[in-house]
Amino acid sequence: MTGDDLVLRAARQLEICNACRYCEGYCAVFPALERRSTYAAGDVHYIANLCHDCRDCYYACPFAPPHEYGINLPQVLSEVRAQTYRHYARPRGLARLGGWHGVNVARAALLGIIVFASLAVIVSGPQAVTSPHPGPGAFYDVVPWLLMLVPALLGTAYVLLGWVASGYAFWRDSGAAGGAIGPAELGGVVADVLSLRFLRGGGQGCTYPDDRPSMARWSLHSLVFYGFGLCFASTCAASFQQDVLGQLPPYPILSAPVLLGTVGGVAMVAGAAGLILQKRGSDRRAASSWMTDADYAFIGLLGAASLTGLLTLAVRDTSLLGVMLVVHLGVLAALYVMAPYSKFIHFVYRVLALVRNRGEQALEAASRAARGVQL
Ligand code: SF4
Ligand code: SF4
Repeated sequence: MTGDDLVLRAARQLEICNACRYCEGYCAVFPALERRSTYAAGDVHYIANLCHDCRDCYYACPFAPPHEYGINLPQVLSEVRAQTYRHYARPRGLARLGGWHGVNVARAALLGIIVFASLAVIVSGPQAVTSPHPGPGAFYDVVPWLLMLVPALLGTAYVLLGWVASGYAFWRDSGAAGGAIGPAELGGVVADVLSLRFLRGGGQGCTYPDDRPSMARWSLHSLVFYGFGLCFASTCAASFQQDVLGQLPPYPILSAPVLLGTVGGVAMVAGAAGLILQKRGSDRRAASSWMTDADYAFIGLLGAASLTGLLTLAVRDTSLLGVMLVVHLGVLAALYVMAPYSKFIHFVYRVLALVRNRGEQALEAASRAARGVQL
């Protein structure tokens, strides 16, 4: 099926939903589709990225398959989101890396491990990888500081530039309905994102992985999301201790970098494992196979990055430090390289769709106020 065919198929379902409106209280998708009477590609891409795949509408819909209308919004919007990821991926040429597929992600991680192991052996010598390294600077005895810093800085710049370029292309195409975006709208989006509001549904969670509402998906997403934030805080704290206080790692168990990294890493491993288990038991009738593969690849890579980080911490006083460190750095390198081409990018489009949605809500409220309409 071509991209145009997919947009037309999604637009047809959105038109039926716009006529039916039974699900309009379920999520932000329905008010957004009701603000439109036609659905161009940019509208469909935007609406698809407002959907968080809770499946409420699928289980409520009397027109779901095997009905002849075949309404299946979670599936078709998931397919459109997949198209969004491919269509707006920047730099375009590297999109052929295919980071959304598990096999390619595993290859990237293996390549990263080989590169860091080779660098460690060439620069520090084979014994540096297999010997214990007591005392400050242990990690840098295996992989010198500059060989960690320079790839990390280059990787961060590459990821941020790719995300900004992809996000800009998506934003430009999705703006047909307009809507001013000011501090109030941006504040609302921050609250939506930090509370993972839409994964809570109306307070009883998603009908996922089966037709019973549950807060489990919200809880697992929260573990991964806030675990990631704690790991980032751990990296910042370690940079402060090293570059400002002049204290080289490894740090004591009760230091800020270790505590933050341990709690964050455990949360990410638990959340990633739970999400994979949920996905394995989820209802495939409402899923897109492409997105399922991309989900496994991304969640697996996040979980592997956290697990190898925790293991590096656990063996840091032993001769296994060198091996675990190059494995961890290799997995992190894969996470960076694949970031613009893996499910990681969903964060960018989701946030932009929420910003767009807040702008449209503000425009609608202003229009109602101008007409003297009471809600
Ligand atoms: S998903 Fe089904 S029930 Fe819900 S608005 Fe669309 S057509 Fe109506
Ligand atoms: S799956 Fe959930 S978020 Fe997506 S359109 Fe249906 S009710 Fe809305």
